[in-house]
Amino acid sequence: MSALTLLGTGTCQIEHERRASSVLLELDNTLILFDCGHGVVQRLLEAGVQHCQVQHIVLSHFHPDHVSDLVPLLHAGAWSRTHPRTCDLHIYGPPGVKQLVEGLMQLFGPSSFGQPSYSVLVHEIAAGPFAIGGHSFESVSLLPAGNHGICFTWATRRYALTGDSSFHAEEIAFLKDVDLAVVDSGHIEDTEIVELAVASQAKVIVCSHLYRQINATQLQAQAVQRGYKGTIIVGRDLMSFMLA
Ligand SMILES: [Zn+2]
Repeated sequence: MSALTLLGTGTCQIEHERRASSVLLELDNTLILFDCGHGVVQRLLEAGVQHCQVQHIVLSHFHPDHVSDLVPLLHAGAWSRTHPRTCDLHIYGPPGVKQLVEGLMQLFGPSSFGQPSYSVLVHEIAAGPFAIGGHSFESVSLLPAGNHGICFTWATRRYALTGDSSFHAEEIAFLKDVDLAVVDSGHIEDTEIVELAVASQAKVIVCSHLYRQINATQLQAQAVQRGYKGTIIVGRDLMSFMLA
């Protein structure tokens, strides 16, 4: 089975309904977390996945609402008595990710976050193609704050996850004709979400990273009026999409 699950559709805001940013990708037997903000490790459990099963984490950038649950995830891996980590953990991110992980190791002490039975391996990735467990991904620089989105193809369909993004030409190009896009809708206005839909023609746009309520029906109507052929939906935590 392959699926994309929204673990966190929120932001730095502390809310009942939404945890901070994260998407879980299950590609055959490979589990990949895209971002790991606050509350996400708990959501992972609600999605039926133990922290120690995750072998790959991709970080879009280093704002706390995208990385802060690395702390409980690394700690549980090393010290959980019920579910200790037994497999290596790979952490990928833009330049600076090594400094981030080394900084956490120094802050809490390496013994908090590791055991000799497995390794935590950190990979700095430049914009462009990279591979995770034999699957091909592309990292794309999307402003602001050194953020990198990722896109990939699965069973002939194209998927894109933005992390944070402003509205700009690079984002339109990034989403162009993809089958499903999980989009930072918190940092852009309603008019920009509509513009993004019309200009990119992404088939399904999932609004995530939400700082406010979004009326998808209204945005959909405005976008369709301007020639958009796809669907705009508002993401919820634990919403899942089968990757056919
Ligand atoms: Zn963010």
